Amino acid sequence: MIPSARRLRWFCATALSVLLAPLAVHAQGTVLNLYSARHYQTDEALYANFTRQTGIRINRIEAGDEALLERLRAEGRSSPADVLLLVDAARLWKAQQEGLFEPVKSDWLASRIPPNLRASTESGAMAWVGISTRARVIIYNRERLGPIELGSYQDLARPELKGKVCTRSGAHPYMLSLIASITAHEGEQKATAWARGVVSNFARPPRGGDTDQIRAVASGECVVALTNTYYLVRFLQSDKPQEREAAARIAVVWPDQQGHGTHLNVTGGGMLRYARNRDAAQRFLEYLASDEAQVYLADGNNEWPAVPGVTTRNQALAALGSFKADSLSVEALGRAQPIAARIIDRVGWR
Ligand code: FE
Repeated sequence: MIPSARRLRWFCATALSVLLAPLAVHAQGTVLNLYSARHYQTDEALYANFTRQTGIRINRIEAGDEALLERLRAEGRSSPADVLLLVDAARLWKAQQEGLFEPVKSDWLASRIPPNLRASTESGAMAWVGISTRARVIIYNRERLGPIELGSYQDLARPELKGKVCTRSGAHPYMLSLIASITAHEGEQKATAWARGVVSNFARPPRGGDTDQIRAVASGECVVALTNTYYLVRFLQSDKPQEREAAARIAVVWPDQQGHGTHLNVTGGGMLRYARNRDAAQRFLEYLASDEAQVYLADGNNEWPAVPGVTTRNQALAALGSFKADSLSVEALGRAQPIAARIIDRVGWR
């Protein structure tokens, strides 16, 4: 599975490290400094497996996306970080715009990660790559929806849903990315009209995260809401009976199955501009696209692998069923961010 070019590089790196053995740098071993916005139990195995395969030790700093971006800005050139992992294309795009990433050329990554799930530079190198995918779906209270048709994100703006819709703030990256996708497909004018319609249907002012929207739909405070799929899976698989009961009161709509498909987003990462351990950083990113890493990444947060053909045995995900995903590129989501931000200001979706 590891292409021969990588094996050769590994061999060369090993031979070189033998030559350099007396140097202190070798005594410490090769390291990779990782800043990650992911923090799941299974990630331990993901990283340990990389160290076992390559001998490269991983030093990790885990924090929220914004905290990591703040830290990188403050550290500037003296940052020790080699690789950055973030959740949501909106944040990855922002990091790219700020010049935080060092473009990577890798035939292996190009062959594994579909073009719509990675961001390229003008030279054809990759600024960052998606490593797992999540969908943003509509959920509704089974008993309280009534005879209202719900098949598209567009339906959230229908007047029949007045006083029934809950969302988190439109300024959150998950919402900005969804609004960006609608903007990319329909144009700014139609996206604005849609956003205005959604805001006029609110059951309450936007608040909380996706988990709060799930709870509010289950309790009947709201009839319809939006959530990323993995939050729903957490409820379905929960040890707490009240969370499983909440999930049972909710139905899922895969939006736009007759149209563009359901909005997809990514967890992704890239090499940092001031990375010192560049070879280790590239090998780590390539490792993340391997079959086994893809399964760890997807299972860790109940997401889908970014690499086509990799399957997980995640029963809760399987229970959600299959769906048509929007193939809009993560770059297009990024480019439309400023328009999405303008729209939420214009319609008061804060
Ligand atoms: Fe999340």
